[in-house]
Amino acid sequence: MELTINQAKKWIILWTDYVKNNVELLNEIDTAIGDGDHGTNLNRGTQATKKALEEEDPQTMPLVFRTVALTLVSTIGGASGALYGTAFLTMARLVKDGETRLEVLLVEATKAMKKRGKSDVGMKTLIDLWDPASKAFAEHKLTKEYINDCVEKTKNMKAKKGRSSYLRERSIGHVDPVAKSSSYLYIALLEVID
Ligand code: ADP
Ligand code: MG
Ligand code: MG
Repeated sequence: MELTINQAKKWIILWTDYVKNNVELLNEIDTAIGDGDHGTNLNRGTQATKKALEEEDPQTMPLVFRTVALTLVSTIGGASGALYGTAFLTMARLVKDGETRLEVLLVEATKAMKKRGKSDVGMKTLIDLWDPASKAFAEHKLTKEYINDCVEKTKNMKAKKGRSSYLRERSIGHVDPVAKSSSYLYIALLEVID
């Protein structure tokens, strides 16, 4: 399926609202196995993105995704800033080259993040949300329940990448913070195309 430009903007803005309403929760989750600032950082990034979309009002799809990517990269910081930036920049490039199928964009964004982070499923990262969720979306099987299950599944994983990997066994028992914040992006998407 393809998103209209307005749907794409709505999608991202809905995500920013989810993040804003869950800043404390995301910080708490990141405190358990990380440095505790993912909610604050991501909220700063998504609020700046919302402002950029409203003020710059990009009129083409590549520009929408590019605006999101560049704003997130320059305002979030941390591993997640680079990874979310990679995801949206990949989507911007593909759309510019004529690939507008959302299924393909999400799957390719996931591949690009795996490459960027030298990571794959099972390492307790946002990939454990993006990989199964993008594939389920492509198969028209994505539901909110499935999205939340994917987040829950990261709980029993041992972190292999990023700061939380230093905790080794002690990273087990908590969900990954960026899998959680990514879940809002996919939930927002389901709501926008509903
Ligand atoms: P930091 O704690 O370094 O400030 P963030 O809190 O922004 O970074 O992001 C940490 C998250 O980034 C992790 O929870 C994980 O989901 C993801 N992550 C970290 N390193 C990698 C990697 N190499 N590949 C994929 N995801 C990663
Ligand atoms: Mg962190
Ligand atoms: Mg941090």
